[in-house]
Amino acid sequence: MPVSLESIAALAKNRGFVFQSSEIYGGIRSAYDYGPLGVELLKNVKDEWWRAMVQERDDVVGLDSAILQARQVWRASGHEAVFTDPLVECRNCNQRFRVDKLEDANTCPNCGATNSFTEARAFNLMFRTHTGPVEDDDNLVYLRPETAQGIFINFDNVRRTARLKLPFGVAQVGKSFRNEITPGQFVFRTREFEQMEMEYFCRPQDAPAQFEYWVKTRHEWYLGLGMSSENLRIRPHDADELSHYSASTVDIEYAFPWGWDELEGIANRTDFDLRQHSEASGVDLRYFDQEANERFYPYVIEPAAGATRTTFAFLIDSYHEEEVRGEKRVVLSLHPRLAPYKVAILPLSKKAELIEPAERLATELRRHFMLEVDLTQSIGRRYRRQDEIGTPFCVTVDFETLEDQAVTIRHRDSMEQDRVAMSGVYEFLAKRL
Ligand code: ATP
Repeated sequence: MPVSLESIAALAKNRGFVFQSSEIYGGIRSAYDYGPLGVELLKNVKDEWWRAMVQERDDVVGLDSAILQARQVWRASGHEAVFTDPLVECRNCNQRFRVDKLEDANTCPNCGATNSFTEARAFNLMFRTHTGPVEDDDNLVYLRPETAQGIFINFDNVRRTARLKLPFGVAQVGKSFRNEITPGQFVFRTREFEQMEMEYFCRPQDAPAQFEYWVKTRHEWYLGLGMSSENLRIRPHDADELSHYSASTVDIEYAFPWGWDELEGIANRTDFDLRQHSEASGVDLRYFDQEANERFYPYVIEPAAGATRTTFAFLIDSYHEEEVRGEKRVVLSLHPRLAPYKVAILPLSKKAELIEPAERLATELRRHFMLEVDLTQSIGRRYRRQDEIGTPFCVTVDFETLEDQAVTIRHRDSMEQDRVAMSGVYEFLAKRL
């Protein structure tokens, strides 16, 4: 049975994955804080993306550009003029809605009034602020609405210093901000979020093949981390959906509890951005091909994923409820590499003679893995708690351990148990992560 949004939100809150931001003041809509487990899960998603997109490749390097950039960046990129959503306002309740998200173009989803909408007006999604003490137009800056532009404006810096030849990619993970009109569905659409974007520069004639390659590669990334294939689909954009910079785009979509929705967009941005920034800045960002002795604008293929949104999808996808010996078991069957804690160490009793070897083992394993030592409640309840937060292995230190220097390792998904020498626990876990 598909999990409800309420079950996920309740688990996220009660176990310390995600909290409503500013909760003690009644909360601020559409902003969330990641708790002790959420910060680990989010970090693991970003790390796995970085591993696949940067570490394991010889043609992609990383970048971390500033959130505040010159206003000209957003003029040249087109965001100042066209990064807008068409908005209508209900004359009856004064709520505003995105025209393209209305189920019924004539009925207000808030108050039910019919034919009450104003004409659509463009609303720019970029947050504005000012640098320095004077709040005038000369000091206006935007919080970046995507990480990509930081890559385009550094194209030459990165190419030159990393001595890159086409084709090559530049990857970035970081916060982006959009003043979304209709945020919602928990952390799916928020005004502050994290993106994982890579710009892959290539020769114009290679762009269509690179586009196909990246769609396939990115789809496989989700599958490789255990996301169910039936909950993923690839959807090409219709011509009227394309962004102002894109020649073709496909979305990788996930079957969220409310229906199919975007996880990641893969776009052929052509040479739009490099050309725009060259023309606006006067700095020639063309690539010089020494062999052919020619200068040209590379094309760029962009896989752009949401880190927070993807984390949410992994949470949903891994959530299962099942019955074990007449009792409900909630389990997050997260891929071990994504799980917040890789292992929980559970001394069977609170007696010092068991706590001492458990702590010794924990100290050794902490050098390698995030883990938790849990001394509370019965062993059964402790297993259930670890199942619920997705810990793939529980190590139980019992009285026999004192005799045989071995521990019991319980597997989260099968609930099977192995007896393993204490000295071999690290190796046992390392092999399975
Ligand atoms: P949407 O149509 O859902 O608003 P988009 O097509 O504008 O998204 P892109 O500009 O392609 O999104 O951004 C790339 C990725 O960044 C998206 O696939 C999504 O995962 C993430 N993202 C975009 N906006 C948000 C947001 N408001 N909250 C969380 N993640 C977001």
